Amino acid sequence: RFDVSAPALSRLLTREPCRILRAVETVSFTVERGTTFSIVGESGCGKSTLARMVVGLQRPTEGALHFSDITRIDGTIGPPRVQMIFQDPYASLNPRWRVGDIIAEPIRELKLRQDEAAIMQRVGDLLEIVGLSRTDASRYPHAFSGGQRQRISIARALATEADFLVCDEPTSALDVSVQAQILNLMVKLQKEFGLTYLFISHNLSVVRHMSDQLAIMYLGRFVETGPADEVFGNPRHPYTRLLLETIPDVEKPNRARRPMSGEVPSPIAPPPGCAFHPRCAMAADICRVERPPLRIVAAGALACHFG
Ligand code: SF4
Repeated sequence: RFDVSAPALSRLLTREPCRILRAVETVSFTVERGTTFSIVGESGCGKSTLARMVVGLQRPTEGALHFSDITRIDGTIGPPRVQMIFQDPYASLNPRWRVGDIIAEPIRELKLRQDEAAIMQRVGDLLEIVGLSRTDASRYPHAFSGGQRQRISIARALATEADFLVCDEPTSALDVSVQAQILNLMVKLQKEFGLTYLFISHNLSVVRHMSDQLAIMYLGRFVETGPADEVFGNPRHPYTRLLLETIPDVEKPNRARRPMSGEVPSPIAPPPGCAFHPRCAMAADICRVERPPLRIVAAGALACHFG
């Protein structure tokens, strides 16, 4: 089990020095080992900033990121090893390195194998695990398609023997047919190796396929969390309900789909009270002045005065 407590906020100074952008407020969540915790929200809600903070690519400007220690299968205790699978497989691989060196680098850096023969053996094994060939180690990234490059990225992440993989929109840059192949590979690897995923996406259909637990994020805060089945089957927050109305339902093909109305407000000047109130059909006077806290509801949590 992984307990993650992200810092009070990520704050970026704008050109006007007195104004700050609150990308992420305090968030805490627990991910059971071998499961997927997904964070969903529209562009600009702070989910990618949170992912980058979790993996250490962006430093919080207030507070600190806290991971509970975990006990590994080999008996060692310590903070989890966290690795990221990036959105864009075209930009995340060094074009001047052979694929074998790209995958071998973390193995060498972390001293996970002692000699070069063992390192290259591991590289070959990883390429086969992600559905590529051992001989691909000698080729350069430009020789591969987008889906194959994402397989290489996954192999590199696995090479670190990470306990916790942060996947930031890992398929959004790929064709739809290839997306399904990569998602199925991730599910297969999770079952085979007990991997734990923090999965970031704006695509609810993808999230439904992947998630055990789910958090809906709006303007830097979680507004609803819970088991994925429950959030999809019985959404409590008006924002979650609106998000769900935008996705197709194969069981109800004739159901009317409403597009999401309005824009996410600027995090530089968020609305007072509940940040969702300018777009919420249920908004009442209290919503305009009092921010609803995230409180425990059933198996999850909810930030709404009327949930
Ligand atoms: Fe809507 Fe009010 Fe609930 Fe916010 S607190 S989601 S404005 S009903």
